Order: sequence, then structure tokens, then C-alpha cells
Amino acid sequence: MSLVLGCIADDYTGASDLANTLTKAGLRTVQTIGVPRGGFAVSGVDAVVVALKSRSIPAAEAVALARGARDWLAGQGARHILFKICSTFDSTDDGNIGPVTDALRADAGAGPVLVTPAFPETGRTVYFGHLFVGTVPLAESPLKDHPLNPMRDSNLMRVLARQSRAPVGLIDLAAVSGGAEAVRARLAALAGEGKGAAIIDAVFERDLETIGTVALDAPLSVGASGLGLGLARALVKAGAGGTRGAAGAPVAGAVAAIAGSCSAATLEQIARAEALMPVLRLAPEALIATPDAAVAEALAWATPRLAAGPLLIATSGTPEEVAAVQARHGRAASGLAIEHASGALAAALVAAGVRRLIVAGGETSGACVDRLGIQGFEVGPEIAAGVPLLRTVAHDPGMLLALKSGNFGGPDFFAKAVAAMATPAVTTAPAG
Ligand code: ADP
Repeated sequence: MSLVLGCIADDYTGASDLANTLTKAGLRTVQTIGVPRGGFAVSGVDAVVVALKSRSIPAAEAVALARGARDWLAGQGARHILFKICSTFDSTDDGNIGPVTDALRADAGAGPVLVTPAFPETGRTVYFGHLFVGTVPLAESPLKDHPLNPMRDSNLMRVLARQSRAPVGLIDLAAVSGGAEAVRARLAALAGEGKGAAIIDAVFERDLETIGTVALDAPLSVGASGLGLGLARALVKAGAGGTRGAAGAPVAGAVAAIAGSCSAATLEQIARAEALMPVLRLAPEALIATPDAAVAEALAWATPRLAAGPLLIATSGTPEEVAAVQARHGRAASGLAIEHASGALAAALVAAGVRRLIVAGGETSGACVDRLGIQGFEVGPEIAAGVPLLRTVAHDPGMLLALKSGNFGGPDFFAKAVAAMATPAVTTAPAG
């Protein structure tokens, strides 16, 4: 089995979302944190998603990063590259969707690239090249006031043309509804007109499947997780996928959770966990002022308890507590200091024998994964919507992880995550 799909995602959470979508659609998928270094290689998987942080950096840097990721994916044997962008097309007139698309297309010597951020399941649809967010055009959605990439134009042909060297065409819903051959005919016409990219409409999920089928004719496509779904469905139809993933296989070793998210959902989840496992709440002041001592103390509390079962260590505070800490130390400085301490705590717990680690909080998860030096993981079955079980790849020791954004998961999330890590292998292949 070979790597049928290589994806380059322009941000971390988008990468996770795509990897989860591909896995649910039946592709055995690995996600890497940046372009892997050293001898990290994947084998026996259908798809790899390389997570970059390139959405809002200078265009030349985004192009260089994307090319590096593409080279690594090509080296692993990837036959098609999806450049994964945000489903609200987050970008500015300087890039980075246009410059990266231009560069990857030129390198591949490809014709017009299919581009669509549509993902009907999450309310993103494209009609006559205009992106809708729910029921309103992009430029009337809250994205018009995004702090980094304010989206003030819903017409994606115009948006992409302002960022691109080559002209941009449209493949409208009528062509997409006509099926793969109709789309191919339209694409050939656009190639004749010298277009470099084609915004392609999609309003229904079946549109994504048609687009996915045609996209696979070419080496490159550009879109959000919706296009990932279309590509995955087309690949599965063509015989890819169906192998059992390793992410659900049991891992021995102690279980611990770290919570750094201060979201209402996480605070409730921590309160629920108190009934099921020992919970230690760390004082943010100590984590900021004397992090080494605070981590050592937490480890001293955890070590004798680890053999008995799962435990939870939380830095999380109520909105009032967070506001007080931020007033004293500044928002960014306190956040970074506590994330750093959380990463150190994760490393200490792993040194003490933890092999199954649950982390609540997006930034907190990033800090823990970085600190542990994890380069990639295979994506397993979902514990809660958007939160899959993860198994490290080429990492010593091998670990199971659950990384949760603050608001994700129901009140019993920690119990569910512990149970998911305890159960024997669950197949990631789709039913039927
Ligand atoms: P979420 O996914 O909910 O946004 P994150 O981990 O991304 O969670 O962000 C939470 C931020 O709050 C992190 O920067 C973390 O270090 C910080 N933090 C954690 N506990 C506290 C606390 N008690 N007071 C202030 N900041 C905190």
C-alpha cells in the first residue's frame, strides 16, 4: 500500500481537523508536526497531513515551507498533494493561498488547480465562486473583522486573483452537478484560456465527491477539510484505505491528564473528573514564579498515585482567577509561562512512566507535544467529536494521546478519554 494523499496544512488545528476527517472517511492517516526531521518515515498509511504554521507569515516564507513539506511528502511517495487552507479562505491580498498555489503548480508543471474551501457539513458553501458562511456571504460574516485576515470580499475569484500571478477561472455548480466529465470539460476549457486556478462551486456533499474524483487526475488541489473528504471518498471508492490503523491498539503504562484550558467546558469536565480520579490543582502564581519547584511538587504528588490509576493535574482557573493572573503578569506572558510549565510537567510525567496522556487546551497541547519532541502521530477513532485518539509514530516511548481544544467534548470527557485508551484495538476503517 502506498501513500495516496499528501496534505500540507497551513495551521495546526486545521491539520488535525483534516486528519480526523480523512480517518473517519476510511484513510489510515498520520499527522506530523511540521516537516519531520531525521529518518522519520511513514509506511503502511494512506494519507499524511503535515501541519505547518504558515497562514499569516510572509508569503515567501509560506512558499518555502510548503515546498519543503511537498518535497518530504513526495519523498514518501505521495501521489497527490492537497494544500489545506481554512474553510473561510483566511488570507490577505499578499497571500498566502495564491503564492503557495502558484509555486506548487509551477513546480508540478500542472494545469489549472481546483480550489474550493467548501465544506457543507460545517456551513461553508461556494456558489458562483462566492463563499457563504452559514446563510451569509463571507464578507457579511464575523470573518470580516478577523484580527489577522479580515475577509471583506466574498468573491473568491477576485480574492485569489489579487494574490496570484495567473488568472483565476470558475467552474460553477451546473458543471459540478453534471458530474466528473462535465467538470473535466470545463477544466480543459480553462486550461485553454491560460487560467492558473479554478474556483469550483460546491453546495452539497456529493459535489465534493465529484470534485475529489476530478482533482485526483492532477498532482495538486487546494481546499479545506471538505475537499479532503471529497478526495478521501474518491480514493476509497478506487480501493484505497480499509486497513486497520494502529492508533486504537492498547499501550501499557500509566495514564495522566493535564488541563490548561480555562474554558467553561473544561472547567466542568475537571469538576466531573474529581469523582473518578485524584485531581491536583496547581496555583498559577507558583507556576509563573517558581516553575521548577511547582513541577517537582506536582510530580511528587503524582508519582505514588500513578500505579493506582488515572489522575488529573490542572492549571485551569475560573475567568476571575485568569483575569487576576493576567492583570499581574500580562496576558501573553502568563499564558506562555503556564504553557511552558505544563510542557515540563508532561515531560516529568512521561519520565515517571506515563504512556497515555490526555491534554485539555489547544496551546497547552502544543506545548506538551513540542516538549515531548513528538514529530507525528497516527490518528485513531474519535473519543468525542473532533477529538481523536492519537498514537505516536517513531517516538520512544510509544504513547497514546488525546489532545482537546478547550470547548470540545462533553462533561464526561476525561472518563471517556481514559476508557478509549484502555479499550482494545478499535478499527479505524469505515463500516461496510
Ligand atoms: P483553549 O483550547 O481553551 O483555548 P489553551 O491551552 O489554548 O486552551 O489556552 C489556555 C491558556 O491559558 C494557555 O496559555 C494557558 O497557559 C493559560 N492558563 C492556564 N491556566 C491558567 C490560569 N490559571 N490563569 C491564567 N492563564 C492560564
